Amino acid sequence: MTATDQAASRAEELYRLLLQHVDVCRPCGAMEDCAKGTRLRRALRAARYAARERTPR
Ligand SMILES: [Zn+2]
Repeated sequence: MTATDQAASRAEELYRLLLQHVDVCRPCGAMEDCAKGTRLRRALRAARYAARERTPR
């Protein structure tokens, strides 16, 4: 597995986690502050950035 694959699957995993969290988290559903939601979104953004950065065009 390449670094790009790993970064991409990590991003997918984080996205799934975020969707699951938003589904059960009232503050996130109301677009309010939530430490866990913020952490997940930040991690997801970083993972997507890493996946994109390593993808040759
Ligand atoms: Zn939340």
